[in-house]
Amino acid sequence: LGRHKDDSRPAYFDYNGVRFGQDTLNVFAGLCAVDSAEHVEIMLRALRDNGQVCTRMGAYKPRTSPYAFQGHGKNCLPYVFELAGKYGIKVIAMEITHESHLHEIGEALHQTGNPTGVMLQIGTRNTQNFELLKIVGRQQRFPVLLKRGFGITLDESLNAAEYLASEGNRNVVFGLRGMKTNMGDPHRNLVDFAHVPVVKRLTRMPVCVDPSHSVGTRAASPDGILDIMHVTAQGVLAGANMVLVDFHPAPPQALVDGPQALLLKELPHFLEDVQVAREAY
Ligand code: PEP
Repeated sequence: LGRHKDDSRPAYFDYNGVRFGQDTLNVFAGLCAVDSAEHVEIMLRALRDNGQVCTRMGAYKPRTSPYAFQGHGKNCLPYVFELAGKYGIKVIAMEITHESHLHEIGEALHQTGNPTGVMLQIGTRNTQNFELLKIVGRQQRFPVLLKRGFGITLDESLNAAEYLASEGNRNVVFGLRGMKTNMGDPHRNLVDFAHVPVVKRLTRMPVCVDPSHSVGTRAASPDGILDIMHVTAQGVLAGANMVLVDFHPAPPQALVDGPQALLLKELPHFLEDVQVAREAY
């Protein structure tokens, strides 16, 4: 996936009618974790009404505490894929943490028969889970969103991406989602979107920014603008090719990360902001 002077391969790939490249921009707004079919439907309808064809839907959630909600797993896949087909969603970013999830997703897609595609997400906690990377790299059915590891060097995370490519899957998007520091940051993670151009310079991968997991709160500046909105614009202005962002129809009812979710009424404004930032890029 690294850039070489003599390499003329294009810096993009097409998947299920959507192009992912270093010159494109796709927004993946959606639920951090699927909690109910009702919320999935409200979310997807809002996306359709706002012209969106991509989303994020967490079924398998890697949680810090074993007592926290772990996601509905394969039980929610039939209605997620069914509803995605109903609302014209072409690509769903969905984290997997184990090989079995890959098979469950493939099986559920087959059962529902809808033309929805899935981008497999490898989360920051699994960036260096090399066996999982090899398994995901060996299949070419699904593209991959690899999140940067939150406590390792950029070079180590880029090597993790090479594990996918070296096994055969080059359809990889690299995700920036903030870094852990011990400096008492006001955000959940130190926003690292200044590295968007760095990753684009060093590699051929499209770069995703995740403002929700970077900022982790709905904190706003005195002008009333949410920090999540500010850093999204910063990421897009830096050249991001994908934005992964949490929304929820009723954040107090969300089972994961409700406090960082944007409200559905904020979706049009969010998309407009992204567009303005993109035009300014
Ligand atoms: C997520 O996107 O749902 C997530 C858990 O992200 P990360 O792996 O970046 O923490």
